Amino acid sequence: MSSESSEGGFMPSEEQMLALLSQIQDWQINHGSLLKNLESQTEHSVFSYPVGVSVYPTPFPKSQFRKAMDLQPVYNELYMAVAGDEEWLYNATKELIPTEPLADALWGIHEQSKEAESVQEISAAVFRSDYMLHMSGIQSSDSLAEHEATLKQVEFNTFSCAGAAHAKRVADMHRYMTRTGFYNFGDATEQQRPNAASLPRNDNIESLASLLATAHKAYGAPRSKGAEQTAILHIVQPYNFNIADERPIEYALWEREEPVHNYRLEWGEDILQYTTLTDTNELLFHPPWLAAHDPVEVSVVYMRAGYEAHEYDHTGWQARLRLEKSIAIKCPSILSHISTFKKVQQALTAPGALERFLAPDKAELIRNTFVQQYPLDQSVEGLRAQKIIRDDRISNHILKPSLEGGGNNVYDDIPEFLSSIPPAARSSYILMERIEPPLSRNLLVSRAGAPEGLVVSELGVYGTCLWKKTEALCNTCAGWSFKTKHADVDEMSVVKGYGCFDTPLLQ
Ligand code: ADP
Ligand code: MG
Repeated sequence: MSSESSEGGFMPSEEQMLALLSQIQDWQINHGSLLKNLESQTEHSVFSYPVGVSVYPTPFPKSQFRKAMDLQPVYNELYMAVAGDEEWLYNATKELIPTEPLADALWGIHEQSKEAESVQEISAAVFRSDYMLHMSGIQSSDSLAEHEATLKQVEFNTFSCAGAAHAKRVADMHRYMTRTGFYNFGDATEQQRPNAASLPRNDNIESLASLLATAHKAYGAPRSKGAEQTAILHIVQPYNFNIADERPIEYALWEREEPVHNYRLEWGEDILQYTTLTDTNELLFHPPWLAAHDPVEVSVVYMRAGYEAHEYDHTGWQARLRLEKSIAIKCPSILSHISTFKKVQQALTAPGALERFLAPDKAELIRNTFVQQYPLDQSVEGLRAQKIIRDDRISNHILKPSLEGGGNNVYDDIPEFLSSIPPAARSSYILMERIEPPLSRNLLVSRAGAPEGLVVSELGVYGTCLWKKTEALCNTCAGWSFKTKHADVDEMSVVKGYGCFDTPLLQ
């Protein structure tokens, strides 16, 4: 390995490298920066492995970082308003219903839940807006200057937003590595060394716990006769390998000066078995370990499951319906969940769409973060997309289905792909202009080893909100995640093995 310096990193010797990796490994084991290997699970042990991380923090322009954080309350406002406009949301997503089972299930459950007589007027949400820097066709070898790269949105997530705890841990790890001097190789200049002051802090876990605590408080005292206490219920997927991203929020709630009671319940059968609805739609939780005791009335349902179509078999459907019918505060509501479909993001790029929800100056700030997006239908915009495809101008575009969670986009041979699917299925896809991020150098450690190379980064910004009808009770920027992948990898999902958690080195 050479010692030559490179933008965003500098190469250690073989020996220094081994020391660095050993430091990182120890830090990750000690701080739960881990994923579970479920196959190895027995009653008394389970193997786990460190989540993928970058060895060094990766440079990112401070001005764009601040801009993304400052913009989050405006994005929160937008998506609170979208969830409150059922008619607009239905029109934006109705074409998905015949072809996307998840959209069909969510709208179906929403319709059935309307039969409930009592309704909860307060909603909570954890959002995450993901961005990359866009270079507008210029790739410069100079360090990132403000005018070169601007923030463009990759996607907006409104449901089960993950990664907050991992992102916080890795930011803490890079600060530790910086403070201890492990990056100070003999040949690195002062300027090349990351310094702790350039690494932003990340209070994700506390911010998310704080939103849930505020929602819990807003629910108030138990209303049903049977229950003496209220608690938050985290709905999680069974066979969960990503507990290190979920559990810290639970522990933070128990750790508060005034502990907030909160429990975990698995999606599906367990919801039907361990919860009941009262005649007035309070959701009661009957913890199996407290069988003989009074039930707990659920104040807030925090969803970390139910985002994949296969979860909506008969049991899954009934389980979600029970949650939706209840007067517990949902984090998020089913309409907020529906607003996560990429069709919604595309619909918001249509002329005038943002102005339906936001004042013109705020709409303009949001619009500046959009790249071109097109539907694949018979609308004027849809015909434009078809022209792009016909004229062979497709290479700087990506085709996205309305599925979540990584690994679903089409990057190559888009025309071929489109002609291979039934014409009716095409309208559930969107065509999106490709964001061209600047390149840096880094080493990314994962189960694949620690290859050095050119990398690109994505900044995710968390937003937390609580609202009653159209009134915002809480609207804050709640922290960030920063993920870096090798430049030749298209996808990004750290827990699925694409990319690593990282920290922006602000400059
Ligand atoms: P999901 O996370 O729901 O699978 P995304 O829209 O986040 O869907 O796409 C997955 C990944 O694909 C992103 O994290 C990003 O790395 C890449 N990607 C998505 N849209 C674009 C785009 N317009 N330009 C460049 N890369 C993109
Ligand atoms: Mg994504």
